[in-house]
Amino acid sequence: MHDPECIFCKIVEGEIPSTKVFENEHVYAFEDLNPMMPVHTLIVPRNHYRNIADGIPDDEMAHLMQAVGEVARLKGVAESGFRVVINTNDDACQTVHHVHVHVLGGAQMNDGNPSL
Ligand code: 5GP
Ligand code: ZN
Repeated sequence: MHDPECIFCKIVEGEIPSTKVFENEHVYAFEDLNPMMPVHTLIVPRNHYRNIADGIPDDEMAHLMQAVGEVARLKGVAESGFRVVINTNDDACQTVHHVHVHVLGGAQMNDGNPSL
């Protein structure tokens, strides 16, 4: 599944350049273009789903979530701590409608909700 208008599909396909952090046959992880934290990596499924509630099959959901720990280790924040954010639709200010997991860390965060 690929949406020709979707920038994250284009990143997955290599049509838009990105800085790769991790990949396997199910997911692609890359650095956010405008990092909000010292560590700010995005993880996307290779297939296009609009958001986390868009009927992602169980196995693809599992691969997406398994990649979180992988990315946290690769970025060196697995022990110090990190935050996982999945903005969904308008109230959460989702701007790219290809589901993506933000992995944020590398500095002390507030204990309130992030406002990404
Ligand atoms: P959202 O607000 O949808 O949860 O997050 C979208 C994220 O994608 C933002 O943090 C934004 O900086 C990032 N982003 C948007 N366009 C690009 C791009 O072309 N390349 C990369 N690496 N990140 C992008
Ligand atoms: Zn897409």
